[in-house]
Amino acid sequence: MSTTSIRSWRAVLSDPDRYGAALADRNRALNAFLEIDAKRRPAASPAGAGEAAGAGEAAGPGEAAGPGEAAVPIAVKDNIAVRGYQLTCASRMLENFVCPYDATIVSRLIAAGYQPVGKTNLDEFGMGSSTDNSAGGPTSNPWDTDRVAGGSSGGSAAAVAAGMVPVALGTDTGGSVRQPAAFCGVYGLKPTYGALSRYGLVAYASSLEVAGILADSVDLISDVYTAAAGIDAMDQTSTWTASPPSSETRTVAFLSGDLGLDQRTTAGYARMRDAVASRGYAHTDVELSTSDYAVPAYYTIATAEASANLARFNGVRYGERPLYAENPESLVRAARSAGFGSEVKLRILLGTYVLRSGFQEQYYQRAQKIRTAIRNEFDSLFATYDLLVLPVFPTAAFRHGADELDAFQQKVADKFTTLANLAALPALSIPTGVFDGLPVGIQVMGPPHSEARLIEFARVIATELPFERPPGYEPLSTLPPSGSEVA
Ligand code: GLN
Repeated sequence: MSTTSIRSWRAVLSDPDRYGAALADRNRALNAFLEIDAKRRPAASPAGAGEAAGAGEAAGPGEAAGPGEAAVPIAVKDNIAVRGYQLTCASRMLENFVCPYDATIVSRLIAAGYQPVGKTNLDEFGMGSSTDNSAGGPTSNPWDTDRVAGGSSGGSAAAVAAGMVPVALGTDTGGSVRQPAAFCGVYGLKPTYGALSRYGLVAYASSLEVAGILADSVDLISDVYTAAAGIDAMDQTSTWTASPPSSETRTVAFLSGDLGLDQRTTAGYARMRDAVASRGYAHTDVELSTSDYAVPAYYTIATAEASANLARFNGVRYGERPLYAENPESLVRAARSAGFGSEVKLRILLGTYVLRSGFQEQYYQRAQKIRTAIRNEFDSLFATYDLLVLPVFPTAAFRHGADELDAFQQKVADKFTTLANLAALPALSIPTGVFDGLPVGIQVMGPPHSEARLIEFARVIATELPFERPPGYEPLSTLPPSGSEVA
């Protein structure tokens, strides 16, 4: 993105009421946001809201952009903590929860001159690939409102694609940043596990999930990543390295074999191949012997962790509390029955099943072994090649509801994205253009902490690939200057 357009994005926050109204207006057709509020929150005192005290090395919130100085608007998925905003995870369970603290990545971004302007829609607790599983109703795709925006960070992807914000935060446990980015025609970065602090993310499957970034330019992905990354004392799993792998790419591997792609995705993948060839990279086809096991391993580990993580939503500490209950057990039962949607209940049940004593070896431990095998296969792949290119999802954006892809087929289709989460590796979804009316994204994966390499590759490849906007695209950064008449 050119500097001019970032400057125009800064301009919108000089009149937050007007920008907020324009966001609300555009949101009617898309339901990308669950909450919109473009007004700056007063800076928290350092020891302000209990939990925020000592949030790592994060600078004090609000420092970089003082009053009157315009920040860049950023949308934040509603499973990431932003002080003073709701934090519902698109669940009835947290319907009325207002968040008392900022996630570390949010406070770092505020300090770097970004300003949250709202909370975006998602599949409840991040469980899904469509944003249809939301207590707040589905998000629609700006390219075709009969279709899903992808998920679970569908609201963030739609908000960027529709020109409501230039950049948004999401979370990616099994593809939830990359797949909606691909469906909406924007960039989506899933960093190395631990590279962005998870402090302030509502946990779904802790060992797999990371915060990620969706934006309409490689430069913004890079800027936001750099501003948010780094060790955080509040997250024991946060990682950093003084010597990341070189940002240079010479050899690119392409995942080959029977990939089961639809026509549009086949065309997008071919276009990526052509772009790689015409930029002169050495490229080779490879197969992964472990890839067929990624989905079963992912859904075993993710549901096991979800069943433990979601136990805290019991109507006592968090969650909607029934007005009357005979005893504590029936209180918890009533709270969870009413508060959770069916996909969440299914996954909690699956998770408790795979963790049952006697079954652990059969399911959970086998899944962990597969996970190790996947990691090992990537270790040896990246000893030979600098990058791996592979599809994000076998189809472009599908229609709302279960007619085109039902809930089970959607899970099977996570076969390309879950690999990076199981192996803790970074991956970036790159728009390859539009095919028969819908965008297709293709991802590139690299070794741990190779974000700079992925970003550099995307920059080079962008010169070969068209970056297209949905029909009628008009970013809110081009709102006429305030004071002029608006219809
Ligand atoms: N589609 C995957 C799932 O349903 C990915 C979700 C995610 O990354 N949060 O679990």
